[in-house]
Amino acid sequence: MLWLYDTRRRGTFAFQPRARTATMYVCGVTPYDTTHLGHARTFLVFDVLARLLETRGQRVRYAQNVTDVDESILQRAAKDKVSWRDLGRREERAFLQDMRRLGWRKPDAMPHATREIPAMIELAERLKRRGHAYETPGGIYYDVSTFPRFGQLSRFSTPKMRRILASQDDARLDDPSRRSPLDFALWRRVTDGPTWPSPFGRGRPGWHLECSAMCDRHLGFPIDIHGGGSDLIYPHHECETAQSEAAHGMRTRFVGHWVHVGPMRLDGAKMSKSDGNMVFVRDALKNTSPQALRLYLLDVHYRRPFDHDEERLARARKRAAALAESLGRGRLGPLEKDASTQDVLAALEDDLHAERAIRALERHSRRDLAPDSLASLRTIARKVLGIL
Ligand SMILES: [Zn+2]
Repeated sequence: MLWLYDTRRRGTFAFQPRARTATMYVCGVTPYDTTHLGHARTFLVFDVLARLLETRGQRVRYAQNVTDVDESILQRAAKDKVSWRDLGRREERAFLQDMRRLGWRKPDAMPHATREIPAMIELAERLKRRGHAYETPGGIYYDVSTFPRFGQLSRFSTPKMRRILASQDDARLDDPSRRSPLDFALWRRVTDGPTWPSPFGRGRPGWHLECSAMCDRHLGFPIDIHGGGSDLIYPHHECETAQSEAAHGMRTRFVGHWVHVGPMRLDGAKMSKSDGNMVFVRDALKNTSPQALRLYLLDVHYRRPFDHDEERLARARKRAAALAESLGRGRLGPLEKDASTQDVLAALEDDLHAERAIRALERHSRRDLAPDSLASLRTIARKVLGIL
């Protein structure tokens, strides 16, 4: 039985999918720059989560979006004097290439924002019909006062929310005449850059609308797991919750487990595209095997911040090589009930403590084990963790 932390309830709870297939939605990339270690770490957490469930016989449907139009991609395209579509396509290809090299368990659906505009418009109309949204000269806005649970995911104060909103890329586009500064755009009437027709005028969808609409279309409502980086808790996931739950009558919770991955830091500062302090996956892979890089990235519990450290990366290379040596190149086997397998699985099933699982694997693989136990450990190392 998997126990998984849920950000909303601030605790670890037994994972019980609502239907035979577990559903997982992860907020994906805005492809305007090369994949850095922070992205890789985040997506590998969900990769291991899906692999763990699947190895245990649980069917999983995993969807992850590509935000191929938003303010950051448009700003970058304008700065580099390239078309935003070309920039997005090129960077998405590079992202997929990087993740493929890392042995990523690819999502079953990867919807693109620009191809899902009708579903977003439909959702915005539904929210307006139900009294959760209103029009302004600048577009259509979600009225957060109609959603009493607004703020329950992040538990941030209003001043804190306002501070965060002011620092967002699209803050300058928000209509100052909206009823509350916390009200967020479902659709903005804009004239510059790419626009689409809608019943609310030509413009572009708000960022949060995209994920609620795609989640609904590709996984249904509600879903079992919703993931992303911890920086998405507010405003993105808070606003998604307000949209999705209001669109479905308010009674049912949108998500069973909110799973948020801590930030990747370089010299104490968050690794981010906007700040330009990044270590790219393709550079790291020049002298590190995919297995060793996975071991490195999984070696800190996912909810904790990860401080990039070249010495630890060098050690991860040695540890991956030593593990390959001790587990050997033999066959993979079914998961056994023996103490070693159970020890490693227990760490993973306790809120995905991959770092403890890796250490247990290292410890047990050095012992004199029966061939079946060894084959079972190899299965976990290769199929679940991808470090062998
Ligand atoms: Zn999202």
